[in-house]
Amino acid sequence: MQKLKDIINFLETVAPLSLQEGYDNSGLLYGDPESNIEKTIVSLDLTDAVLEEAINIKAQLIIVHHPPVFKPIKRLSHYDQVSRMVIKAIQEHIAIYAIHTNLDNVIWGVNGEIANRLGLKDLMVLSPLSNTHQKLIVYVPALHTEKVRNAVFAAGGGAIGNYSDCSFSSKGIGTFKANEGSNPWTGKIGERNEEAEEKLEFLIPVHLQASILQEVQNSHPYETVAYDIVALNNQFHEIGGGAIGRLNTPMPTELFLKEVKSIFGSAVIRHNGIEKREISKVAICGGAGKSLINNALSKGADAFLTADLSYHDFFVPPFKMLLADFGHFESEQFTSELIISLVKEKFPNFAVLKTAIQTNPVHYFL
Ligand SMILES: [Zn+2]
Repeated sequence: MQKLKDIINFLETVAPLSLQEGYDNSGLLYGDPESNIEKTIVSLDLTDAVLEEAINIKAQLIIVHHPPVFKPIKRLSHYDQVSRMVIKAIQEHIAIYAIHTNLDNVIWGVNGEIANRLGLKDLMVLSPLSNTHQKLIVYVPALHTEKVRNAVFAAGGGAIGNYSDCSFSSKGIGTFKANEGSNPWTGKIGERNEEAEEKLEFLIPVHLQASILQEVQNSHPYETVAYDIVALNNQFHEIGGGAIGRLNTPMPTELFLKEVKSIFGSAVIRHNGIEKREISKVAICGGAGKSLINNALSKGADAFLTADLSYHDFFVPPFKMLLADFGHFESEQFTSELIISLVKEKFPNFAVLKTAIQTNPVHYFL
């Protein structure tokens, strides 16, 4: 058994809600965060059949990739499919949680899973997001620096790429005068005090700013902590849309497409002409990725695999890049397995099941 809020907190550490796109509606769509969850179903989509399945197996939570409530609902009408599902979920006390573009925008998410299945190495995001991190500067009296440093690390600050516990410090002298009514840790009221301090600097994720500052306050001896938050324009290879990496060994194009078809079970792959004879550098974007075609071209991808492409998208010159649509559901289907393995690893004694329902609404007449 697990509190819903613990599961949510964990999922939002993996894929912070602040990383979702502006049009998205990820997060808890219905449910009491204090409720206890014994069983959950994971599915790419919520359908009537998935909801029925959850009721039958007595699951208290459904985790989906695509948020069933996407556009604002003005009335809960029994004639509307989304409303009907929401009403039923409420009646049956089944919480619904969506982890969508926030999971698309971390490299260990949807695209990382596709890359693993393809065996891509040297993976980086295709279109890095900006403004995901800030610099935190804190001024700390010399003997307390380690405590504050550890508090920032424990709260999730100081991580750069595959490195943690990253910080920089420089020594200096701080001055302050405690005024009437204050309660200084050191120095006398009404007299200027000089203190040997260290200036500590960290990179922190924007979404953790409030909790990290709280930990700084808790671990710092001063009544009033002096700190700066500095906006950064840095982009990071792990945060953003799509991904690009290399195949272990370059592959003839037809063979590559055959591999993709077999790994993802795509009934058909739609693609532009085959003029690239060999594929080595592969860009991917699970689901609708046409907005990243130019990113893939500019990064020199031999192939860009995505979904939901329309006629005109395929006019990408084939000598520049193979562009292939291998199906929306097909591209994202392993997202359920990814969510299940993440949740199971964190909460080993908790039932997380993949839906037995095939939710792909697209069928192919061959
Ligand atoms: Zn999708």
